[in-house]
Amino acid sequence: MRRFLCPDCGHEVYFESLTCVSCNSSLGYRPGAGIMSRVNGNNAQTCANRQQIGCNWILEQPEPSGLCLSCCLTTTIPDLSVTGNVDRWARLERAKRRLVYSILGFGLPLPPAMAGDLKTLRFDFKGDAVLPDGETERVLTGHDNGLITLNIAEADDAVREKHRVALHEPYRTLVGHFRHEVGHYYWDRLVADRNAHEAFRWAFGDEREDYGDALKRHYEQGAPADWRQRFISHYASSHPWEDFAETWAHYFHIVDSLETAAAYELPTLLTQFDMEHYPSPYRGTPFHVLLKGWIPVTVAMNEMNRSVGQPDFYPFVLSNTIAAKLAFVHALIHDDVLPAPGADGQTVNM
Ligand SMILES: [Zn+2]
Ligand SMILES: [Zn+2]
Ligand SMILES: [Zn+2]
Repeated sequence: MRRFLCPDCGHEVYFESLTCVSCNSSLGYRPGAGIMSRVNGNNAQTCANRQQIGCNWILEQPEPSGLCLSCCLTTTIPDLSVTGNVDRWARLERAKRRLVYSILGFGLPLPPAMAGDLKTLRFDFKGDAVLPDGETERVLTGHDNGLITLNIAEADDAVREKHRVALHEPYRTLVGHFRHEVGHYYWDRLVADRNAHEAFRWAFGDEREDYGDALKRHYEQGAPADWRQRFISHYASSHPWEDFAETWAHYFHIVDSLETAAAYELPTLLTQFDMEHYPSPYRGTPFHVLLKGWIPVTVAMNEMNRSVGQPDFYPFVLSNTIAAKLAFVHALIHDDVLPAPGADGQTVNM
């Protein structure tokens, strides 16, 4: 994430800021231009969700719904008559704006949700429902042909933490859910639509393995003993599609955190990351430069978090196998030549 200043007084503000705490100016974020602007009371300019859930984005083009580029990707919002759902929805949209920021940062395709094309990216935010017979109809978080469904209970810290512990996950965040699920969407666009299956299989394994059987096996037997050397997370070992989505999410974590570190001039980063040659981790930076910049940031940030008694900032180890998968995601996003096995079986085109 970049660093933002109030256009009126120059005080530091956040990506999510609605007003400047120093001069009280109303603020709005322009997603296309990537800048923070003053909002002058012109409602046509601000997102229709500004009052209700605090979306600070500005419409840069007229949109009949009055919704910003991020909010208009949501096709189902939670039932707002249920206590707490306005807050849950607000937290989900807040995390989604960070996702859309990264999608725009990478220049990835983002067709408008209302284009009528079933392949467009869209989001349903739903809660479990109690049926007339007393049974609970559970909402499963997942991706299906462009539609990402998120169970809104994940917006409750207590629920998310319970699931995190039960599933032995070091991380469980809303922004992580969005980054993971959108990885499935972009697998369809960048691997399947472009016929990049062979290169994908070399890096992640054969996705033709039955998905239902693979997940069943994962939940019954757990991950293989050596999963830490081969997979970014326990869950990534369940199926090549999940491995890809997990790796994709980590690539987003890494690039966005590197942008933040560079914006705030974290000194450990400056020794490793050549800002003059590579001004943005989102574009034009080779993968090996990103990786070299990332390691010292994680060490410093883990220590920072331990200093205040927080869990580690990045509790993951990137083996060479995992780095090769991240390199594949990097090449896919930047439309570079995909890594492929060399004559000796080693990676080339990294
Ligand atoms: Zn100000
Ligand atoms: Zn909005
Ligand atoms: Zn998944």
